[in-house]
Amino acid sequence: MKLIDLHVHSTASDGSYSPAEVVRQAKAGGLTAMALTDHDTVDGLPEAVAAGQTLGLEVIPGVEISAQFPGGTMHILGLFVDYHNGVLDERLMVLKQARLDRNPQIIDKLNALGIPITMARVEEISGGGQVGRPHIARALQEAGFVASIQQAFDLYLRKGGKAYAGKFRFSPDQALTMIREAKGIPVLAHPFTLNLGSAFALRNLVIELKGQGLAGLEVFYSEHTPEQMALYLKLAQELNLLVTGGSDYHGLNKPEITLGSMPCQDKLTYNLVEALKAWRRREYCLSA
Ligand SMILES: [Zn+2]
Ligand SMILES: [Zn+2]
Repeated sequence: MKLIDLHVHSTASDGSYSPAEVVRQAKAGGLTAMALTDHDTVDGLPEAVAAGQTLGLEVIPGVEISAQFPGGTMHILGLFVDYHNGVLDERLMVLKQARLDRNPQIIDKLNALGIPITMARVEEISGGGQVGRPHIARALQEAGFVASIQQAFDLYLRKGGKAYAGKFRFSPDQALTMIREAKGIPVLAHPFTLNLGSAFALRNLVIELKGQGLAGLEVFYSEHTPEQMALYLKLAQELNLLVTGGSDYHGLNKPEITLGSMPCQDKLTYNLVEALKAWRRREYCLSA
């Protein structure tokens, strides 16, 4: 069986391993293909694609964009994005700047609470990639202010936490459009994080997003229950959306998630990749 993982993070965003290292781990885990989908950046893609070529593993260029969604978290994956596309890079730069502005705000709030964490230490922990809340969480844990990463989020970093700072996000429509402009496949990631109360509400939202260009649903996911997977699969089939899935591997920053052996790994087979490629060829009139 040719197994895949279409949702993986590296140090280019908030994963703990470099792009080349996650590709090596995917290969060692027995996968045939993996998508690197770092948050709001395509910076890790050249390294991952090159490592894939060296090791004989198909690396699908991807990105995961956070969109505005009051009341919940909306992440939209872009799979098979053309990362040489200047427009995508330019749009992502806006998000990068927003993130850069946000971290010092969080640190200031922590300092005001009497917690002497520095931006310099947080940057060291990030290992040179994008710096975000997981790195601040690790700094808090390291300095003994919390017992775990989870506790750092619960007490300080989550929306409503004591040191939370908001950040700029694109609208769902804008996120879908920028992925399509880069000839990518827009997929709604882990639908449960939208915090919608019912299957009916989710269905209505997905129909609306499809009208704005959504092409797929992340059905198989390390944190989905069997009931959620069944519901999302039914919805994808009913609305004629592509089915994808992945672990959301973050290395040591989410140690409970492994690469190549999540609970529903047997559902993630290469035929899903073939369907994605066929859709993309049709949609963008590409040859071969
Ligand atoms: Zn996500
Ligand atoms: Zn993710």
